[in-house]
Amino acid sequence: MTNLYCARWILPIASSPIEDGAVAVDGSSIVGVGSRDKLIARFSQSLIQDFGEAAILPGFVNTHSHLELTAMRNYLEHEEGDFFAWLKKLTVARLERMTPDDLYVSAAWGAVEAARAGITCMGDASDSASSSMRALRDVGLRGIVYQEAFGPDPARARENFEILQEKVVRLKEYETTLVRVGASPHAPYTVSAPQLELITEFALEENLPVMMHAAESRAEELFMLEGRGAFAEGLARRGIEWHAPGISSIQYLARHGVLRSRPLLAHCIHVDEADIETIKDTDARVAHCPKSNAKFGHGRAPFARFIGQGIKVGFGSDSVASNNTCDLLEEARFALLTSRATEGLSASMQILNAETALQTATLGGARSLSLESQTGALIEGAQADIVAVALNGAHQIPLYDPKPALIFASSGRDVLMTMVAGRVVFSEGRVQTVDEERLRARLKEIRDKLS
Ligand SMILES: [Zn+2]
Repeated sequence: MTNLYCARWILPIASSPIEDGAVAVDGSSIVGVGSRDKLIARFSQSLIQDFGEAAILPGFVNTHSHLELTAMRNYLEHEEGDFFAWLKKLTVARLERMTPDDLYVSAAWGAVEAARAGITCMGDASDSASSSMRALRDVGLRGIVYQEAFGPDPARARENFEILQEKVVRLKEYETTLVRVGASPHAPYTVSAPQLELITEFALEENLPVMMHAAESRAEELFMLEGRGAFAEGLARRGIEWHAPGISSIQYLARHGVLRSRPLLAHCIHVDEADIETIKDTDARVAHCPKSNAKFGHGRAPFARFIGQGIKVGFGSDSVASNNTCDLLEEARFALLTSRATEGLSASMQILNAETALQTATLGGARSLSLESQTGALIEGAQADIVAVALNGAHQIPLYDPKPALIFASSGRDVLMTMVAGRVVFSEGRVQTVDEERLRARLKEIRDKLS
C-alpha cells in the first residue's frame, strides 16, 4: 500500500522546492516525490494525508548527542565555569548514582525529545551504549551509537582497548537495520596515544564508524601545546606522565593515524588553517555544536570555512546537560546568527544562509555519518525518513519563502509528524512508539535521586 503525504511545500533538499507537492511512501522507502496532482495520478490507489500549510522535508540528522545524559538537563549549571569540574560531577552521577535502568530511561527520554523535534537520525556517543541503542530502537529512530572509551595512562592502553573491543563485540547483538554500533575514543586528553592507535586499527579492520571530541576547549589546547592547565593537572594527580606534543589536537590525531578512520570530530573550535586543510584532506567529518560551545564559553567553530572547504559537516546538539535542548532547527538558527554576528553579513552571505543551514541539518548530517545513501534527502529509493513542519503559526506568518521561515522563525515544537523508515514515530502531539507517561514518571524519580 502506498501512502501519499501532501503539503503546501515539499523541500527535497537534494533538488528544488515543490509548491503543492507530495511524497509517496511504500513500506520503508520513498517511491515518489513531485507535484501533488502528478503523484495522485501516478499512485491512484494510495491513502492521502494532507498537512496543509506545512513543509515536508527529510528528517533532521543530529550528529552529536549523549542521550544517556538527558536526566542531567539543568543539573550542572553551577559547574559550567570549570569544564573539568563539570566533567567530574557528570561522571560521578553517571557511574555511581544512576542504575542501568536510569541510563536507559534517560536515553529513551532523549530519543523522545528528538523524535518530537523531527530528528530521525542520531550520532550518539555513549558510555552505556546498550542503553542508547535500546532507546533508539524502542523509540524507532535511526542512528549510530559510538561506545565511548577512556584511558589516559599509556601503560594500560592494551587492557583498556580490550575492554572496548569486548563491549563492541557484545553490542553487535543490539544492531538492527536502523541502529549501528561505532567506537568513540573520548578525547585527546582522556585516551592515550597507544590506545588511540589500537582503537583505530580495530575500527579499520572491522569497518567500525569512529567519533571523537576534538579541539573543544582552551584547556585542551593548553594541554596539547604546553602540557599545562586543568587536564594536565588532573593527569599529574593520578601519577600519569604527560609530555605535550606541542601540536594541535587535529595534527596529533593525524600523527597517530586516527584520521585514517575518517572520524566524526565533535566541536573543532580551536583549529587553524592547517588543521582545516588536514580535516579536508583526510575526509574527517565535523559535528558542529554551536549552542553547547557557546554555553560553555568555549568559542565558535569556523562553520563557514568548513562549508567553504567542502568538509562534511552536520549540526550536533551535544548533550542536553550542556545545551539544554535537542532541537536542530534551533541549532541551525544559532549557527547562522552567531556566525553572522562575528563574520559580518555581506562577507558570509553566500554560505551563511537558510539554504545552507537546512542542508547542514539534513543531508550534511547524513554525509557526516556516511548515511547519505539512506537518509538526508527526499529522493526515490531513499529510506522514508520524513518530517512535516507546520508553517502557519503566529510566529511564522505571513510566509514568503519556506526555507528562511523554517530556519529563522521555526523550532522543533512546530513539527507535526516524524517518520523513520516509513514508520510514524511522532504524530498528533505524542510519540507513538513508547509510553511517554511512564518515562516521564521515571525521569522524575531519577531527578529526585540526583538532586
Ligand atoms: Zn560530546
